[in-house]
Amino acid sequence: MSRATELRCGDRRGTSAGYMAHYYVGEAACDDCCTGHAAQVAQHRAEHGRHDRLLGKARSRAYARLSKEHPDRFRELYEQAKAEVFAEARALRVELPAVTS
Ligand SMILES: [Zn+2]
Repeated sequence: MSRATELRCGDRRGTSAGYMAHYYVGEAACDDCCTGHAAQVAQHRAEHGRHDRLLGKARSRAYARLSKEHPDRFRELYEQAKAEVFAEARALRVELPAVTS
């Protein structure tokens, strides 16, 4: 068995897909995946960074307005989503931080 097939990333080694394969099981990515993912993120930021930042800013404003207009429903949805993501993390045996709010 080659080293590539022994790693979690397998034939995705050195890519963002490989990096996420490591991430989803809560392990540190191999050097090739760290390097490949960093290069892909840098390329994406160079091509789309300003647009992504503006979309993020708009999304943050919309969340703030939604939480003020419908605070009970927003809190309910937030608690549901929080329970979901922590259950998913536990299922993947990802080490969870002590603070959850
Ligand atoms: Zn890897």
